[in-house]
Amino acid sequence: MNAHDEVFIGGHWRPAAGTDDIKVINPANEQVIGSVPAGSAADVDAAVNAARSALPGWAATAPDRRAELLTALSVELAACQDQMASLITAEVGTTIGFSRRVQAGLPVNMTRLHAELVADFAFEERVGSSLVLLEPVGVVGAITPWNYPLHQIVCKVVPALAAGCTVVLKPAELAPLSAQMFTECVAAAGFPAGVFNLVTGTGAEAGEALVRHPGVDMISFTGSTSVGKHIGAVASAEVKRVALELGGKSANVILPGADLAQAVRVNVADVMRNAGQSCNALTRTLVHADDYEEAIRIAVEEIASYIPGDPADPDCRMGPVVSSTQRGKVRDHMRRGVAEGARLVVGGPEAPEGRDKGYYIRPTIFADVTTEMSIAREEIFGPVLSFMRYEDEGDALRIVNDSEYGLAGAVWAADEDRAITFARSMECGQVAVNGGAYNPLAPFGGYKQSGVGRELGKHGLMEFLQTKSLQL
Ligand code: NAP
Ligand code: MG
Repeated sequence: MNAHDEVFIGGHWRPAAGTDDIKVINPANEQVIGSVPAGSAADVDAAVNAARSALPGWAATAPDRRAELLTALSVELAACQDQMASLITAEVGTTIGFSRRVQAGLPVNMTRLHAELVADFAFEERVGSSLVLLEPVGVVGAITPWNYPLHQIVCKVVPALAAGCTVVLKPAELAPLSAQMFTECVAAAGFPAGVFNLVTGTGAEAGEALVRHPGVDMISFTGSTSVGKHIGAVASAEVKRVALELGGKSANVILPGADLAQAVRVNVADVMRNAGQSCNALTRTLVHADDYEEAIRIAVEEIASYIPGDPADPDCRMGPVVSSTQRGKVRDHMRRGVAEGARLVVGGPEAPEGRDKGYYIRPTIFADVTTEMSIAREEIFGPVLSFMRYEDEGDALRIVNDSEYGLAGAVWAADEDRAITFARSMECGQVAVNGGAYNPLAPFGGYKQSGVGRELGKHGLMEFLQTKSLQL
């Protein structure tokens, strides 16, 4: 697609007030593939005003009608799924097969499922002598990251619109082209003008202006914990509602008697997908002392099939990371891992062979990682697995929960009851039990410093609603 050199405000594309632009780079070959406007505070102001004007009409629109338009949006997203997949592969570096299925495919499903959800949702309930009304929070400022750019947009925008809120979106500057294509889909679906607005730009300028704008009632943010803390503090000072989806350091716990090979293979695939740039990646692998070396042997065998290469090639299983900065951060983490005494089993900070162009990283396994090491504590956001040894279940649980984060986790056991018992004690918002599949309607979000609030399904919709009680 041709990138727009405009922002989308009040139902049409129009020139941005700011004159700077943002160049979008393909991380596989370091070439510029497009540019978008760097929106300014004036653009944010215009977008928020458009969203405010559209709010009363949209909030009063029947949920069934909102559901119809969201269904139309899912049809538009399905129609451009292949184009969207290629675009996200070009701006993020995700391998094309995964891009089609997940980056572009999952949001189609997600949008349709949430349209169905809102059509059946009870926006009113009787509590004794009261009538309790669930009303939209108002104008939502949505700020999203680049790793699953369309998915993160859909996780916010779709439930917000479903709830009757209007939206101003500030997508990640590294991946704004998919946000523009999403906006085309919104426009084609026929939403009223001003219900959805897009201002591309930097976090420091457009993002900050959105968080501070007095016309915004709620900020829904997905990104790093450090930026999330800042945004939470600024927005809370104005008594805005804040939802935060932040980083993670999720653990995969393999209990004795579990299917070791299956548990390790799934773990390797989980961390290699999107070159390790998934907030819920299972980056800490906990294995009982008796199974430990065998688990590492299986992982080494498995990881050999992830050879960094061109993500647009359908046979490629491992693309680059998103940017040179991201590559630098991942390599720094690896160097610290070595310096702190972890055993580098495979991979490491050097460029993969034959990949001198593009932001490629060697798929990496560390062993003998202990809880005080930075590679056990900090989010790496790259294709790096850390193996940790435990002696008994109590020890495993202590290691799992010894983290500032609490986004996700996984547990494997010979029987499901034992796995569920362990999962109940894990301090995190989602746990995959014996490889349980991702559920697009299950609430997603973090304990501890992984966030505030939940996205998706009924719980996600509730985030965008406020309650009023009428005493009758
Ligand atoms: P990031 O640097 O925190 O940026 C996220 C978004 O916030 C971007 O749009 C960014 O703009 C914007 N931003 C930055 N500073 C801002 C400010 N002062 N005011 C307002 N907005 C601001 O995160 P990232 O590097 O894009 O994404 C990676 C992180 O996201 C990881 O930590 C990952 O775990 C987390 N993540 C969490 C989830 C979840 O659901 N919990 C999902 C995906 C990712 P720029 O584009 O200009 O930087
Ligand atoms: Mg950033």
